[in-house]
Amino acid sequence: MSFTLAIVGRPNVGKSTLFNRLVGKRLALVDDQPGVTRDLREGAARLGDLRFTVIDTAGLEEATDDSLQGRMRRLTERAVEMADICLFMVDARVGILPTDEIFAEILRKKNANVILAANKAEGRAAEGGLIEAWGLGLGEPIALSAEHGEGLNDLHAQLMPLADAFAERARHDSAEAPETDVTLRLDDKGEPEDAPRVPTREKPLQVAVVGRPNAGKSTLINQFLGEERLLTGPEAGITRDSISVTMDWDDVPVRLFDTAGMRKKAKVQEKLERMSVSDGLRAIKFAEVVILLLDVSIPFEQQDLRLADLAEREGRAVVIAVNKWDIEDDKSNKARELREAFERLLPQLRGAPLVTVSAKTGKNLDKLQAAVIRAHEVWNRRISTARLNRWLGAMVEAHPPPAPGGRRIKLRYMTQAKTRPPGFVVMCSHPDKLAESYNRYLVNGLREHFDMPGTPIRLYLRSQA
Ligand code: GDP
Ligand code: GDP
Repeated sequence: MSFTLAIVGRPNVGKSTLFNRLVGKRLALVDDQPGVTRDLREGAARLGDLRFTVIDTAGLEEATDDSLQGRMRRLTERAVEMADICLFMVDARVGILPTDEIFAEILRKKNANVILAANKAEGRAAEGGLIEAWGLGLGEPIALSAEHGEGLNDLHAQLMPLADAFAERARHDSAEAPETDVTLRLDDKGEPEDAPRVPTREKPLQVAVVGRPNAGKSTLINQFLGEERLLTGPEAGITRDSISVTMDWDDVPVRLFDTAGMRKKAKVQEKLERMSVSDGLRAIKFAEVVILLLDVSIPFEQQDLRLADLAEREGRAVVIAVNKWDIEDDKSNKARELREAFERLLPQLRGAPLVTVSAKTGKNLDKLQAAVIRAHEVWNRRISTARLNRWLGAMVEAHPPPAPGGRRIKLRYMTQAKTRPPGFVVMCSHPDKLAESYNRYLVNGLREHFDMPGTPIRLYLRSQA
């Protein structure tokens, strides 16, 4: 039949948040036999096509300091015994604490099947903790955001082979012994869990359209929708009530966030300018890919540059769209000018696609969509350790790192630590001594060699433990 997954980890890392997400709105069927699962919550979970039982080790918050460790240990051990697979959760924002090490040890001792998840991984504040999580020696951490539903595809990918293995085992067991588990679990429609269900569609690709007031954001979204559902006009700051719209781009479900729709009608232009940056920031946080929409008559204004920088710092994939291309007379000169300005003013977005469009006529919107989908693909890209190390060897041979004080810095080994955006760890001697220019050499090389335009690339230098 199915398998059981226990979510373990210290309080406050986000276990219940993930539990609720996996169980959904369904009533969690709580098995409250005294003494067995008093502190354990159990529910019928669903993740894509997978159906399983999930156990949450909640209820630790009320423990007093004295008893906390002992209770935590007992509870975790019990959950591990009940489960086929353990999802060990740490907090990527806080990093690895001594308590996390205690959990890792319990799991190692119990020989559990462990999936390591670094939660709260949305945004850049999480990157350090994600790297630290590698140090637990439990394999690659999944970058998860239980709250925002990010990283669930990675969780699914890790569960899949284990689920297959347990299904295989169950088939084997049931051939020998009759099925004894007669617990009936109901799904959200009140049907038995095993009834076939339509597979759930993947989460839509989250796209934010940001830019100055009047850049044409609402017009663009109208054009995408192919209907005049949103209000637009020559006046800046027209409001709409909807914040996001979902549509299909060539069968890819896409959810568009419109910052024009988030701002309230404002009379004062200055206030509006300020708001569109903070609204833009909010949209950027929700997005996977950010479309920075520029007005061809005033491209790369201060506000545009700020939004671009925010998107990069949040680790979002960025596509630049230059709008109102229909009113430009000298298209070929302008295109060159824009390229130059882009490279000069936004070096941190090197390689990001720049597409000229007309939201009004719809020209080139197909190209913009293709660029967004491709940027998203790159943002999720995973490169094998073997390929990375072959590449690193060649890079070092072509240009050996400097030798400060006569001691050569050795770059030993590298691996991809995360995706969304891609992040890489390079193990080396004296990471603090490696010049920034060498770091750039590696990042630019990665971008070129592995063809990763339009996404921030993070490189972390670490000395070997
Ligand atoms: P538990 O004690 O491990 O069950 O943790 P909870 O699920 O109760 O979450 C603890 C806190 O972390 C709550 O305030 C959650 O809203 C927050 N939290 C959970 N998941 C995330 C996440 O993915 N990102 C962020 N930023 N916060 C989260
Ligand atoms: P927002 O404030 O960014 O949402 O901008 P709107 O979508 O409201 O557009 C502001 C103004 O620019 C409106 O008068 C639009 O008609 C005009 N506009 C938008 N896109 C284009 C375009 O591609 N070409 C031209 N010529 N005008 C456009």
